[in-house]
Amino acid sequence: MISHLEKRCLLCEEVISAKTDSREHLIPNSIGGRKKVSGFLCVDCNSKSGDRWESALASQMNPLSLFFRISRERGDAPSQKFKTTSGGEWVLNVDGSLDLPRPIYQEKKNENGLEINISARNMNEAKKMLKGVARKYSQLDADALLKNAQMTTSYSQNPVIFNFSFGGSDAGRSIVKTALALVSTTSASVGDCEHATQFLKKQEHEPCFGYYYEKDLVLNRPPGIPIHIVHVNGDPDSNLIRGYVEYFGVMRVVMCLSSSYTGSVFSATYSIDPIKGKELDLNVDLNLSSTEIREAYDDEKWDGDALKKAMGEVIGPALEIQHIEERERVLDEAVRYAFANSGAEEGENITKEQHDRLMGLLWEKLEPWVLNQLIGRHRRD
Ligand SMILES: [Zn+2]
Repeated sequence: MISHLEKRCLLCEEVISAKTDSREHLIPNSIGGRKKVSGFLCVDCNSKSGDRWESALASQMNPLSLFFRISRERGDAPSQKFKTTSGGEWVLNVDGSLDLPRPIYQEKKNENGLEINISARNMNEAKKMLKGVARKYSQLDADALLKNAQMTTSYSQNPVIFNFSFGGSDAGRSIVKTALALVSTTSASVGDCEHATQFLKKQEHEPCFGYYYEKDLVLNRPPGIPIHIVHVNGDPDSNLIRGYVEYFGVMRVVMCLSSSYTGSVFSATYSIDPIKGKELDLNVDLNLSSTEIREAYDDEKWDGDALKKAMGEVIGPALEIQHIEERERVLDEAVRYAFANSGAEEGENITKEQHDRLMGLLWEKLEPWVLNQLIGRHRRD
């Protein structure tokens, strides 16, 4: 007779069958997680609780998911509105582009008559707005206005402010669940993790996670990559099962999953580069005492400067890459535009007149970007 260990749902404790297995993402897919675990949560509990916890985490992490252009299995990270330091508003999309949150229409009466300013998000929107203006002022010729309308690209001239925050017990439950999902792949079982399972099951239970910035627990951290990493270890000498979850290299959480563990020694780590979706081979030194973890629960291991430093280490290199990509894109587009409108062909001899027109057209396309670079540099100096 073949016997097998039956898997029970972490939350409702019902036996999980092939039909009720939810195949959970170990790290939520909304922030770029790929690997799945099975026999962990039933479909019902996953959609009742798991989804709520994960959407709390996903929305806290959304600025970072957008910034790092995280690709998901289903759907992109939703575009999000941000304020700039000068109080302007922009919408940041997952491809890194910035849009106006809404079209802007201004009319001003002066001694010369009426001055109308339209900032539309695309040519179609501009057309619609101009037609509306023509209906309002019958002396205006919408077609003539449209002919003169030009598509110019503008760049946000102010750094975008990320209102980034994390915390709260729903997002915390998603993090603890991720640590438990990793435990379920080891020789230990989630049933051994009494603190974690109680926290997940009981709404009023005290949280079993805390932020930790006292020292870097990742031993071979790859520079410049916003890693996701999950680590758990069990140690019968201290009776502890500890957990560590880090997202985007910046959000760092320690957990005491159990303080009555008597099973055998185990340790497991799973980490990825969420931009490339590639698994990494990293080591974590999580050897904290229960007192130290308790101090993290009480916010004593929080360090705003260390968090800022961690942010700088992953955001700096990403900005550099995005800057280079944007420069290439702008140059490509300008060259294509200039050749298309100058009568010259790429790779062929060109006349002096064509050369002058080419340069003029190139500059026309490059000017807003170059100006933005100059202004940006001026601000940094
Ligand atoms: Zn269940």
